[in-house]
Amino acid sequence: MPIKMIIVMKPDATPQQTTHVLDRLASLGFKTHLSQGVERTIIGAIGDKRAVSPLSLTALDGVAEVVPIRRPFKLVSREVKPSDTIIDLAFGVSVGGSDQLVVMAGPCSVESREQLFETARAVKDAGATVLRGGAFKPRTSPYTFQGLGETGLKLLAEAREAFKMPIITEVMDSDDVELVAHYADILQLGARNMQNFSLLKKVGRLAKPVMLKRGPAATLEEWLMAAEYILNEGNPHVILCERGIRSVETQYTRNTMDISAIPVAKRLSHLPVIGDPSHGTGKWYLVGPMAKAAIVAGADGLMIEVHPRPEEALSDGPQALLPDTFARLMAELRAMKAVLHQFNPLPQPAEF
Ligand code: PEP
Ligand code: MN
Repeated sequence: MPIKMIIVMKPDATPQQTTHVLDRLASLGFKTHLSQGVERTIIGAIGDKRAVSPLSLTALDGVAEVVPIRRPFKLVSREVKPSDTIIDLAFGVSVGGSDQLVVMAGPCSVESREQLFETARAVKDAGATVLRGGAFKPRTSPYTFQGLGETGLKLLAEAREAFKMPIITEVMDSDDVELVAHYADILQLGARNMQNFSLLKKVGRLAKPVMLKRGPAATLEEWLMAAEYILNEGNPHVILCERGIRSVETQYTRNTMDISAIPVAKRLSHLPVIGDPSHGTGKWYLVGPMAKAAIVAGADGLMIEVHPRPEEALSDGPQALLPDTFARLMAELRAMKAVLHQFNPLPQPAEF
Protein backbone atom coordinates (compact mmCIF):
# COMPACT_ATOMS: atom_id res chain seq x y z
CA MET A 1 0.00 0.00 0.00
CA PRO A 2 1.46 3.39 -0.95
CA ILE A 3 1.57 6.13 1.64
CA LYS A 4 2.01 9.82 0.99
CA MET A 5 3.25 12.15 3.66
CA ILE A 6 4.68 15.53 4.30
CA ILE A 7 7.68 15.96 6.55
CA VAL A 8 7.76 19.50 7.87
CA MET A 9 11.22 20.58 9.04
CA LYS A 10 11.67 22.90 12.01
CA PRO A 11 12.29 26.54 11.07
CA ASP A 12 15.86 26.26 12.38
CA ALA A 13 16.61 22.86 10.83
CA THR A 14 20.04 22.76 9.19
CA PRO A 15 20.59 21.71 5.55
CA GLN A 16 22.48 18.66 6.89
CA GLN A 17 19.45 17.58 8.91
CA THR A 18 17.23 17.94 5.82
CA THR A 19 19.70 15.91 3.75
CA HIS A 20 19.74 13.26 6.42
CA VAL A 21 15.94 12.96 6.33
CA LEU A 22 16.01 12.77 2.52
CA ASP A 23 18.69 10.04 2.65
CA ARG A 24 16.75 8.08 5.23
CA LEU A 25 13.58 8.23 3.11
CA ALA A 26 15.51 7.21 -0.01
CA SER A 27 17.00 4.25 1.83
CA LEU A 28 13.46 3.17 2.73
CA GLY A 29 12.54 3.26 -0.96
CA PHE A 30 10.58 6.54 -0.81
CA LYS A 31 10.41 9.03 -3.66
CA THR A 32 10.86 12.50 -2.23
CA HIS A 33 10.17 16.06 -3.23
CA LEU A 34 11.88 18.91 -1.46
CA SER A 35 10.28 22.35 -1.32
CA GLN A 36 12.23 25.04 0.38
CA GLY A 37 9.88 27.88 1.19
CA VAL A 38 10.80 31.18 2.73
CA GLU A 39 9.35 30.11 6.06
CA ARG A 40 10.14 26.43 6.16
CA THR A 41 11.32 23.39 4.35
CA ILE A 42 8.86 20.68 3.48
CA ILE A 43 9.57 17.21 2.13
CA GLY A 44 6.85 15.37 0.26
CA ALA A 45 7.36 11.60 0.30
CA ILE A 46 5.63 8.68 -1.35
CA GLY A 47 6.49 5.07 -0.74
CA ASP A 48 5.42 1.76 0.75
CA LYS A 49 3.36 2.00 3.90
CA ARG A 50 5.06 -1.06 5.36
CA ALA A 51 8.55 0.49 5.11
CA VAL A 52 8.14 3.05 7.85
CA SER A 53 5.82 4.44 10.46
CA PRO A 54 5.41 8.21 10.21
CA LEU A 55 5.98 8.38 13.94
CA SER A 56 9.53 7.03 13.69
CA LEU A 57 10.44 9.86 11.32
CA THR A 58 9.46 12.48 13.88
CA ALA A 59 12.40 11.25 15.93
CA LEU A 60 14.89 12.46 13.31
CA ASP A 61 16.77 15.67 14.11
CA GLY A 62 15.23 18.80 12.62
CA VAL A 63 11.81 17.27 11.95
CA ALA A 64 8.88 19.33 13.26
CA GLU A 65 6.05 17.05 12.20
CA VAL A 66 5.08 14.26 9.86
CA VAL A 67 1.66 14.52 8.27
CA PRO A 68 0.18 11.59 6.36
CA ILE A 69 -1.67 12.89 3.29
CA ARG A 70 -4.93 11.36 2.20
CA ARG A 71 -5.63 13.82 -0.60
CA PRO A 72 -3.85 14.14 -3.94
CA PHE A 73 -2.97 17.78 -3.26
CA LYS A 74 -0.26 18.52 -0.75
CA LEU A 75 1.20 22.01 -0.76
CA VAL A 76 -2.16 23.78 -1.10
CA SER A 77 -3.63 21.65 1.65
CA ARG A 78 -4.53 22.74 5.16
CA GLU A 79 -3.09 19.46 6.35
CA VAL A 80 0.33 20.80 5.40
CA LYS A 81 -0.29 24.39 6.43
CA PRO A 82 -3.16 24.92 8.87
CA SER A 83 -2.89 28.71 9.00
CA ASP A 84 -4.47 30.95 6.36
CA THR A 85 -2.09 32.21 3.70
CA ILE A 86 -1.96 35.99 3.62
CA ILE A 87 -0.65 37.62 0.47
CA ASP A 88 0.71 41.13 0.81
CA LEU A 89 0.29 43.42 -2.15
CA ALA A 90 1.42 46.98 -2.78
CA PHE A 91 -0.16 50.03 -1.09
CA GLY A 92 -0.83 48.14 2.15
CA VAL A 93 -3.39 45.78 0.65
CA SER A 94 -3.35 42.12 1.63
CA VAL A 95 -5.52 39.19 0.59
CA GLY A 96 -6.55 36.33 2.87
CA GLY A 97 -6.98 35.64 6.55
CA SER A 98 -7.72 39.23 7.45
CA ASP A 99 -10.76 41.31 8.18
CA GLN A 100 -10.09 43.49 5.15
CA LEU A 101 -12.80 43.32 2.54
CA VAL A 102 -10.69 42.92 -0.57
CA VAL A 103 -12.65 43.95 -3.62
CA MET A 104 -10.97 43.76 -7.00
CA ALA A 105 -13.03 45.95 -9.28
CA GLY A 106 -12.78 47.53 -12.70
CA PRO A 107 -13.76 46.96 -16.29
CA CYS A 108 -13.73 43.56 -17.95
CA SER A 109 -11.45 44.99 -20.64
CA VAL A 110 -9.23 48.04 -20.67
CA GLU A 111 -10.71 49.95 -23.61
CA SER A 112 -9.16 53.42 -23.39
CA ARG A 113 -7.43 55.69 -20.90
CA GLU A 114 -10.68 57.63 -20.31
CA GLN A 115 -12.73 54.50 -19.67
CA LEU A 116 -10.10 52.97 -17.36
CA PHE A 117 -9.45 56.13 -15.36
CA GLU A 118 -13.13 56.96 -14.99
CA THR A 119 -13.80 53.44 -13.71
CA ALA A 120 -10.73 53.36 -11.48
CA ARG A 121 -11.68 56.64 -9.83
CA ALA A 122 -15.21 55.40 -9.19
CA VAL A 123 -14.21 52.02 -7.75
CA LYS A 124 -11.49 53.58 -5.60
CA ASP A 125 -13.96 56.12 -4.19
CA ALA A 126 -16.39 53.31 -3.44
CA GLY A 127 -13.77 51.40 -1.45
CA ALA A 128 -12.33 48.85 -3.89
CA THR A 129 -8.74 48.00 -3.02
CA VAL A 130 -7.47 46.30 -6.20
CA LEU A 131 -8.02 47.52 -9.76
CA ARG A 132 -8.87 44.91 -12.38
CA GLY A 133 -8.82 45.23 -16.16
CA GLY A 134 -8.16 42.80 -18.98
CA ALA A 135 -5.51 43.58 -21.59
CA PHE A 136 -5.33 40.07 -23.07
CA LYS A 137 -8.89 38.80 -23.40
CA PRO A 138 -9.97 35.17 -23.72
CA ARG A 139 -13.00 35.62 -25.97
CA THR A 140 -15.30 32.85 -27.14
CA SER A 141 -15.30 34.33 -30.64
CA PRO A 142 -12.16 35.32 -32.56
CA TYR A 143 -14.21 38.11 -34.18
CA THR A 144 -14.78 40.03 -30.95
CA PHE A 145 -12.48 42.49 -29.15
CA GLN A 146 -9.29 40.72 -28.08
CA GLY A 147 -7.90 43.39 -25.75
CA LEU A 148 -5.35 46.19 -26.10
CA GLY A 149 -2.38 43.98 -25.20
CA GLU A 150 0.67 45.85 -23.92
CA THR A 151 -1.02 49.22 -24.46
CA GLY A 152 -3.64 48.06 -21.97
CA LEU A 153 -0.95 46.98 -19.50
CA LYS A 154 0.68 50.41 -19.72
CA LEU A 155 -2.64 52.12 -19.04
CA LEU A 156 -3.17 49.86 -16.03
CA ALA A 157 0.30 50.73 -14.75
CA GLU A 158 -0.54 54.43 -15.09
CA ALA A 159 -3.81 53.98 -13.24
CA ARG A 160 -1.96 52.02 -10.54
CA GLU A 161 0.19 55.03 -9.77
CA ALA A 162 -2.60 57.57 -10.16
CA PHE A 163 -4.99 55.79 -7.79
CA LYS A 164 -2.48 53.93 -5.62
CA MET A 165 -4.11 50.57 -6.20
CA PRO A 166 -2.45 47.23 -6.97
CA ILE A 167 -3.58 45.89 -10.34
CA ILE A 168 -4.70 42.46 -11.50
CA THR A 169 -4.80 41.44 -15.14
CA GLU A 170 -4.98 38.21 -17.07
CA VAL A 171 -2.10 36.39 -18.72
CA MET A 172 -3.30 33.97 -21.39
CA ASP A 173 -0.12 32.82 -23.02
CA SER A 174 3.09 31.38 -21.55
CA ASP A 175 5.04 33.67 -23.88
CA ASP A 176 3.51 36.76 -22.24
CA VAL A 177 4.21 35.81 -18.62
CA GLU A 178 7.28 38.05 -18.21
CA LEU A 179 5.56 40.95 -19.95
CA VAL A 180 2.43 40.78 -17.80
CA ALA A 181 4.46 40.18 -14.63
CA HIS A 182 6.42 43.34 -15.39
CA TYR A 183 3.26 45.45 -14.98
CA ALA A 184 0.84 43.49 -12.81
CA ASP A 185 0.69 43.05 -9.05
CA ILE A 186 -1.41 39.89 -9.48
CA LEU A 187 -1.46 37.71 -12.59
CA GLN A 188 -4.88 36.30 -13.33
CA LEU A 189 -5.12 32.84 -14.85
CA GLY A 190 -8.49 32.68 -16.54
CA ALA A 191 -11.06 29.95 -16.16
CA ARG A 192 -10.34 28.59 -19.61
CA ASN A 193 -6.66 28.28 -18.82
CA MET A 194 -7.06 26.59 -15.47
CA GLN A 195 -5.49 23.39 -16.73
CA ASN A 196 -2.94 24.95 -19.07
CA PHE A 197 -0.15 23.13 -17.31
CA SER A 198 2.75 24.85 -19.03
CA LEU A 199 1.26 28.23 -18.08
CA LEU A 200 0.73 27.03 -14.50
CA LYS A 201 4.35 25.92 -14.28
CA LYS A 202 5.60 29.16 -15.77
CA VAL A 203 3.74 31.41 -13.31
CA GLY A 204 4.84 28.99 -10.59
CA ARG A 205 8.41 30.12 -11.18
CA LEU A 206 7.52 33.77 -10.55
CA ALA A 207 7.70 35.63 -7.27
CA LYS A 208 4.38 37.39 -8.07
CA PRO A 209 0.91 36.54 -6.75
CA VAL A 210 -1.31 34.56 -9.10
CA MET A 211 -5.11 34.37 -9.02
CA LEU A 212 -6.31 31.05 -10.38
CA LYS A 213 -9.89 31.01 -11.59
CA ARG A 214 -11.83 27.78 -11.40
CA GLY A 215 -12.46 26.23 -14.82
CA PRO A 216 -16.08 26.29 -16.04
CA ALA A 217 -16.26 22.51 -15.75
CA ALA A 218 -13.57 21.79 -13.19
CA THR A 219 -14.13 19.75 -10.07
CA LEU A 220 -12.86 21.15 -6.81
CA GLU A 221 -10.05 18.65 -6.83
CA GLU A 222 -8.98 19.60 -10.37
CA TRP A 223 -8.95 23.26 -9.32
CA LEU A 224 -6.82 22.58 -6.25
CA MET A 225 -4.50 20.34 -8.24
CA ALA A 226 -4.02 23.17 -10.74
CA ALA A 227 -3.04 25.43 -7.82
CA GLU A 228 -0.72 22.65 -6.64
CA TYR A 229 1.21 22.99 -9.93
CA ILE A 230 1.97 26.62 -9.12
CA LEU A 231 3.05 25.94 -5.54
CA ASN A 232 5.05 22.93 -6.64
CA GLU A 233 7.21 25.22 -8.79
CA GLY A 234 7.97 27.35 -5.75
CA ASN A 235 5.38 30.16 -5.88
CA PRO A 236 3.26 30.05 -2.71
CA HIS A 237 1.31 33.26 -3.50
CA VAL A 238 -1.82 31.80 -5.03
CA ILE A 239 -5.39 33.11 -4.71
CA LEU A 240 -8.28 30.87 -5.70
CA CYS A 241 -11.29 32.38 -7.48
CA GLU A 242 -14.72 30.80 -7.88
CA ARG A 243 -16.30 32.31 -10.99
CA GLY A 244 -19.18 30.00 -11.77
CA ILE A 245 -19.36 26.66 -13.48
CA ARG A 246 -21.27 25.22 -16.40
CA SER A 247 -24.59 23.74 -15.33
CA VAL A 248 -27.92 22.86 -16.93
CA GLU A 249 -28.89 26.56 -16.92
CA THR A 250 -27.70 28.76 -19.79
CA GLN A 251 -30.52 31.27 -20.24
CA TYR A 252 -31.14 33.11 -17.00
CA THR A 253 -27.59 32.83 -15.66
CA ARG A 254 -24.42 32.72 -17.75
CA ASN A 255 -22.69 30.37 -15.29
CA THR A 256 -23.82 28.85 -12.02
CA MET A 257 -22.02 30.54 -9.14
CA ASP A 258 -20.98 27.63 -6.95
CA ILE A 259 -21.20 29.27 -3.55
CA SER A 260 -20.51 25.97 -1.82
CA ALA A 261 -17.11 25.82 -3.52
CA ILE A 262 -16.01 28.72 -1.30
CA PRO A 263 -16.29 27.03 2.12
CA VAL A 264 -15.07 23.75 0.63
CA ALA A 265 -11.95 25.39 -0.78
CA LYS A 266 -11.39 27.24 2.50
CA ARG A 267 -11.73 23.98 4.39
CA LEU A 268 -9.37 22.02 2.19
CA SER A 269 -6.83 24.73 1.50
CA HIS A 270 -5.05 27.54 3.30
CA LEU A 271 -5.10 29.71 0.17
CA PRO A 272 -7.29 32.84 0.00
CA VAL A 273 -10.56 32.39 -1.89
CA ILE A 274 -12.22 35.14 -3.93
CA GLY A 275 -15.75 35.09 -5.32
CA ASP A 276 -16.43 36.50 -8.79
CA PRO A 277 -20.19 37.06 -9.03
CA SER A 278 -19.83 38.96 -12.34
CA HIS A 279 -18.70 35.96 -14.37
CA GLY A 280 -20.51 33.73 -11.87
CA THR A 281 -23.88 35.04 -13.05
CA GLY A 282 -23.38 37.10 -16.21
CA LYS A 283 -26.19 39.49 -15.20
CA TRP A 284 -25.58 42.80 -13.44
CA TYR A 285 -28.69 42.43 -11.28
CA LEU A 286 -27.43 39.11 -9.87
CA VAL A 287 -24.00 40.45 -8.94
CA GLY A 288 -25.14 42.00 -5.64
CA PRO A 289 -26.98 38.95 -4.28
CA MET A 290 -24.15 36.57 -5.21
CA ALA A 291 -21.48 38.96 -3.90
CA LYS A 292 -23.24 38.97 -0.54
CA ALA A 293 -23.67 35.21 -0.62
CA ALA A 294 -19.95 34.76 -1.32
CA ILE A 295 -19.00 36.91 1.66
CA VAL A 296 -21.41 35.06 3.95
CA ALA A 297 -19.93 31.79 2.70
CA GLY A 298 -16.49 32.91 3.87
CA ALA A 299 -14.85 34.39 0.76
CA ASP A 300 -11.78 36.51 1.45
CA GLY A 301 -12.84 39.00 -1.17
CA LEU A 302 -14.60 39.62 -4.44
CA MET A 303 -13.90 40.40 -8.06
CA ILE A 304 -16.54 42.65 -9.62
CA GLU A 305 -16.77 44.16 -13.10
CA VAL A 306 -17.73 47.83 -13.32
CA HIS A 307 -18.21 49.99 -16.41
CA PRO A 308 -19.36 53.62 -16.64
CA ARG A 309 -21.43 52.80 -19.75
CA PRO A 310 -22.14 49.06 -19.81
CA GLU A 311 -24.10 49.33 -23.06
CA GLU A 312 -20.90 50.48 -24.78
CA ALA A 313 -18.59 47.91 -23.16
CA LEU A 314 -16.43 45.94 -25.58
CA SER A 315 -16.80 42.82 -23.42
CA ASP A 316 -19.12 41.56 -20.69
CA GLY A 317 -21.41 44.64 -20.68
CA PRO A 318 -24.49 42.73 -19.42
CA GLN A 319 -22.72 41.82 -16.18
CA ALA A 320 -21.05 45.19 -15.51
CA LEU A 321 -22.27 47.31 -12.60
CA LEU A 322 -22.68 51.04 -13.03
CA PRO A 323 -20.40 52.97 -10.65
CA ASP A 324 -23.37 54.08 -8.51
CA THR A 325 -24.71 50.56 -8.13
CA PHE A 326 -21.23 49.38 -7.23
CA ALA A 327 -20.87 52.09 -4.57
CA ARG A 328 -24.19 51.10 -3.00
CA LEU A 329 -23.18 47.43 -3.00
CA MET A 330 -19.85 48.29 -1.35
CA ALA A 331 -21.64 50.12 1.45
CA GLU A 332 -23.89 47.11 2.01
CA LEU A 333 -20.95 44.72 1.97
CA ARG A 334 -19.06 46.79 4.54
CA ALA A 335 -22.06 46.75 6.86
CA MET A 336 -22.48 43.01 6.35
CA LYS A 337 -18.82 42.30 6.96
CA ALA A 338 -18.94 44.18 10.28
CA VAL A 339 -21.85 42.03 11.43
CA LEU A 340 -20.39 38.75 10.16
CA HIS A 341 -17.18 39.42 11.96
CA GLN A 342 -19.02 38.92 15.26
CA PHE A 343 -20.23 35.40 14.68
CA ASN A 344 -18.70 33.80 11.65
CA PRO A 345 -15.43 32.12 12.59
CA LEU A 346 -13.89 30.19 9.74
CA PRO A 347 -14.45 26.47 9.95
CA GLN A 348 -11.30 24.79 11.13
CA PRO A 349 -11.06 21.39 9.53
CA ALA A 350 -11.12 18.73 12.20
CA GLU A 351 -11.67 15.97 9.71
CA PHE A 352 -11.65 15.87 5.95
C1 PEP B 1 -12.38 38.04 -16.83
O1 PEP B 1 -12.03 38.13 -15.64
O2 PEP B 1 -12.71 39.02 -17.53
C2 PEP B 1 -12.49 36.68 -17.43
C3 PEP B 1 -12.38 36.48 -18.73
O3 PEP B 1 -12.77 35.74 -16.51
P1 PEP B 1 -13.00 34.14 -16.64
O4 PEP B 1 -11.68 33.57 -16.99
O5 PEP B 1 -13.50 33.78 -15.30
O6 PEP B 1 -14.03 33.94 -17.73
MN1 MN C 1 -15.06 39.71 -18.05
